[in-house]
Amino acid sequence: MTKAHVLGFPRIGAQRELKFAQEKFWRGDIDEAALTKTGADLRRTHWAWQHEAGLDFVAAGDFAWYDQMLNTAVLLGAIPPRFGFDAQKLTLKQYFELARGNAAQPALEMTKWFDTNYHYLVPELDAQTRFDGGVDWFFYEVDEARSQGHQVKPVLIGPLTFLYLAKSKTPGLDTLSLLGRIVPAYRRILEKLAARGVEWVQIDEPILALELPQAWLDGFAPVYREFSQTGLKLLLGTYFESVADHAALLATLPVAGVHLDLVRAPQQLEPFLAQWPADKVLSLGVVDGRNIWANDLTASLATLQHARAQLGNRLWVASSSSLLHSPVDLEHETALDAELISWLAFARQKLAEVANLKRGLTEGVSRISAVLAASDAAQASRRSSARIHQPAVQARVAGLQARDAQRFSAFAVRQPKQQAWLKLPPLPTTTIGSFPQTAEIRAARAAFKRGVLPEAEYRAAMQAEIRLVVEKQERLGIDVLVHGEPERNDMVEYFGEQLSGFAFTRNGWVQSYGSRCVKPPILFGDVARPTPMTVEWSQYAQSLTAKPMKGMLTGPVTILQWSFVRNDLPRSEITLQIALAIRDEVVDLEQAGIRVIQIDEPAFREGLPLKKRDWLSYLDWAGKAFRVSASGVADETQIHTHMCYSEFNDILPAIAALDADVITIETSRSDMELLAGFGQFAYPNEIGPGVYDIHSPRVPPVDDMLRLIRKAAEVVPAERLWINPDCGLKTRGWPETEAALATMLDATRRARAEL
Ligand code: GLN
Ligand code: ZN
Repeated sequence: MTKAHVLGFPRIGAQRELKFAQEKFWRGDIDEAALTKTGADLRRTHWAWQHEAGLDFVAAGDFAWYDQMLNTAVLLGAIPPRFGFDAQKLTLKQYFELARGNAAQPALEMTKWFDTNYHYLVPELDAQTRFDGGVDWFFYEVDEARSQGHQVKPVLIGPLTFLYLAKSKTPGLDTLSLLGRIVPAYRRILEKLAARGVEWVQIDEPILALELPQAWLDGFAPVYREFSQTGLKLLLGTYFESVADHAALLATLPVAGVHLDLVRAPQQLEPFLAQWPADKVLSLGVVDGRNIWANDLTASLATLQHARAQLGNRLWVASSSSLLHSPVDLEHETALDAELISWLAFARQKLAEVANLKRGLTEGVSRISAVLAASDAAQASRRSSARIHQPAVQARVAGLQARDAQRFSAFAVRQPKQQAWLKLPPLPTTTIGSFPQTAEIRAARAAFKRGVLPEAEYRAAMQAEIRLVVEKQERLGIDVLVHGEPERNDMVEYFGEQLSGFAFTRNGWVQSYGSRCVKPPILFGDVARPTPMTVEWSQYAQSLTAKPMKGMLTGPVTILQWSFVRNDLPRSEITLQIALAIRDEVVDLEQAGIRVIQIDEPAFREGLPLKKRDWLSYLDWAGKAFRVSASGVADETQIHTHMCYSEFNDILPAIAALDADVITIETSRSDMELLAGFGQFAYPNEIGPGVYDIHSPRVPPVDDMLRLIRKAAEVVPAERLWINPDCGLKTRGWPETEAALATMLDATRRARAEL
């Protein structure tokens, strides 16, 4: 029979209940019983929602006290021996120590889950790892859901994905070599599920969406042959990209079904239909697990009906991926207007979409005529709304010429023109933008937003802060100053609030890692900049000093990357709209006398597609968008950019193609190793490698910074080298900030003396 299901549900709770309980538990404000009760209540609610919506299964095993990969590790009993924990008797407190570190041991490393903003904990495996089984929380949750009367589909991360994403702690050991050991562990887990009478189990192997080495692909058939002996029906979950390259493999794999993400990769349906065997289920993910748009039910139904003609009851209806990446419940968005609400669906609303699609498919569209009509009306209003479509914006993007994405002259011509007026000393010093965001600053901003602090007073408070920051920088002897960003809550929200086409939710939180959640703005319409956004602050800051003041903007790619983005335009085009808005701001800053302007792109690398073969096209449009934002100014105006991630040696040509006059990057934690690539590649423009880590309050001794500067000077000629911290200082306190910057200036003076 055709089934309706989701691949997983967010665990944080509609009001972030899990986050608050976790943090109280960590602080010692509540005990373990209170925390576990919060978790159980959330699971009960989320299962009830899935059941009431009309899904055929509830997903169990998708809950985690911190992270799903860590959960898999503790289920398998594969926890790093360095902690000295007994895997079979692991306590919740110890679980959190694995996730967050303890006095003796640093936490497991954390990294991004594919191309999402969710971060998982990286399992540590070595030649001795045994997978002898760990705690039975997973089974407890499956039983709990069953005891609440639900048809349960347990969800597991598959063995190949688990091993692929894990890190080998034994030099030379490939985690794939542990496959023979991990498979029996999975088999025991599956047998326990079979013994409970579970029928279907979802095993996620999202690595199939990557360009996998053949040795890993070869692992699938033997592993799943072994699993098939448990008698369970296995649904292999894939998502986030096309797995069409592996259609033949998946068609012959001994599993009962495969799930496809048709939101990210609708084009993969045909290759699968063309060869799908008569005995296998195909689960089609047509409801977006990662975005907030209401489904176009009519369009989805057409796709499903087409597939059903061939698959019949072997077609299942699903979310594209786990709903983990969606906010929880739209019901709480009381501040958004009705029209906007009609365009949106959060996780809870997506449950109903999936269930309705199945109903329409199997019982006839007349059964869902009311929801179809509402869906059609919402789609029609999105297609025609003047809030979304601004012909002038579209015309501007369409009219972009090659010269708009290029500075007037080449860097070699610009550099002397900039030096002529900047008259900077060798090894010029600067900072990345923000200065400590004190409690007073935050309180003033919040009071202004609530309407209790009059605008004039708010402005005066921010100006006082800017004055303070300028004075401190002058006293320290920094060469290119910043205003400190006191007016910004967040580097995307601040701009989104002033651009057309953005909306903000009250409670649209999505888990980023552990108890951390983010609330991305919703980019729903054409983006334009009605009025200047930062000019007033930068101009005020410049009026206080004779030194050059650096304007501070967030770049188009980062604004795109950190928002929920409309799905009715290509990302490349949306980014160009944002780029033009930023370009207008850059030009206005220049006109206001701000002739050093930084356009931050910390999320530039994050946007890279999952498949390397798609990288070039991304780098091409993303780079073009950056250059459009930066190229409206004269040669004399110096454009900086900032990126705070490691590892960009593999995209250096694209970084160079941004053609920023100066790029500041995070390097101190890699001991300048990162710069080596810049040297080898002969990166042509100026570079400011961070000389100290801003993530810790520690003030490094001057010799440390001097050593890093010398190391940088071996790779980058001194004429092109800047001195700065790794990133912005907003999370730091003033005492360590001043001490660290004074040390940085001291180190710079010594380095200059050595030139
Ligand atoms: N200009 C921003 C700041 O200093 C840059 C932040 C970032 O790179 N994430 O805070
Ligand atoms: Zn940064």
